[in-house]
Amino acid sequence: MHKFTAEIEALAQEVLAYSLDRLKNDPPLDGPRSAADLFAEVGNTISAKGLGGSKTLALFTEVLAQACISTDHPRYLAYIPSAPSEYASLFDLVVGASALYGGSWQEGAGAVFAENQALRWLSDLAGLPESAGGVFVQGGTIGNLSALVTAREDARKKFPGIKQWAIACSEEAHSSIATAAQVMDVEIVTVAVRDDLRMHGDDIAAAIDAYHATSDGQVCAVIATSGTTNLGVIDDLVGAAKAAHDRNIWFHVDGAYGLAGLCAPSIRENFNGIELCDSFIVDPHKWLFAPYDACALVYRDPDIARATHTQHASYLDSLHDGTWNPSDYAIQLTRRTRGLPFWFSLAAAGTDAYTDAMEETLQVARDAAVLVKEHPNLELLREPDLSIVAFTRKGWSKAQYQQWSNQLLEDQIGFVTPSSHDGEPILRFAIVNPWTTIADIKAILATL
Ligand SMILES: *Cc1c(COP(=O)(O)O)cnc(C)c1O
Repeated sequence: MHKFTAEIEALAQEVLAYSLDRLKNDPPLDGPRSAADLFAEVGNTISAKGLGGSKTLALFTEVLAQACISTDHPRYLAYIPSAPSEYASLFDLVVGASALYGGSWQEGAGAVFAENQALRWLSDLAGLPESAGGVFVQGGTIGNLSALVTAREDARKKFPGIKQWAIACSEEAHSSIATAAQVMDVEIVTVAVRDDLRMHGDDIAAAIDAYHATSDGQVCAVIATSGTTNLGVIDDLVGAAKAAHDRNIWFHVDGAYGLAGLCAPSIRENFNGIELCDSFIVDPHKWLFAPYDACALVYRDPDIARATHTQHASYLDSLHDGTWNPSDYAIQLTRRTRGLPFWFSLAAAGTDAYTDAMEETLQVARDAAVLVKEHPNLELLREPDLSIVAFTRKGWSKAQYQQWSNQLLEDQIGFVTPSSHDGEPILRFAIVNPWTTIADIKAILATL
């Protein structure tokens, strides 16, 4: 089975040809089909004798791949799109062909060294000390959970005897924070946002003090968001840090989408206070031009994370020799070297290219906001802080928003899904793809 036969050699050419074609051209948007529909076309693909590589590849490229929306299409603006650089996508092929193990220094030293340099770039942008470090995990959800579990472990030492833990975050915090609280069985102290939609330091302080005054619980982490996924709002990071640290509480920043903006000078000051955090996350698969799935999780003091997350087993003991084992910094053991495509792209293109690409997407977002304001049927929700442009369509019901969205995909013009704000339906463009031009925005606005 493992022989590199003539059939495999031919398949390699087919795989490379498909990959090259996919990378070179704007893909069609495509769209989902039902399982019944797909079964009717491809049947059961798993058989005792196998279909052979070429036939299976054709099934994928001609049917299955086309039942997947192309998240890197320039007019895919829903949720948070994906925009891997050519360097990153190509290097993902190398990672896929290399059977690299990213859990330990012993097995993956060269790869871990490279991943750590990419983490260092992010950590330096945030202004954390040289001793900071972390790991690439699957996504922001696991990144947040791993950081918060570390924060609670730290709090157990600082506040012995506490039975009930809590975390404090804004009502606009990402859903993954509520998931983490559920997994950890901790309470949530919810902090209201002000008219500017930001969570402010004074309000965090008041909410935590009220909680401590009325329960036996203890807050073990304050989570600020920079920025929110729906609207790109950045909390008051300086105030959040002070509210946390005045009370000896861990300060975590969820920057899964927005912290990528650290490398864009035009918005850098929005992130002031990030240098005070005890941990942060940012997803290179969102706005840093890396393929799925990669979340950078960085700790100010990685020793606390290692003490929290290291798994101990007789067969693993030989790994714990003072070297840097990425497995030890999050909830995971085996891991692919998921930070490597990001590292390769960063190393090959240079960080200036990242700054330029980021500023390009920000400019398209600003220009899109102007077009929305000029559009007779639309109302801009707020000036974008980052690259999310949110607006409403005058007079439309929720059902009309959904109908429009369905039709846009059906017509293969674009993919934009309705969201909501304050209970009212809205539309939002999340612009993270440097291939998205203002002409793409105009094409979508013309349908509104
Ligand atoms: C996307 C996002 C997450 C979750 O990240 P995943 O990689 O999807 O798990 C968490 N927080 C914020 C602010 C996000 O935008």
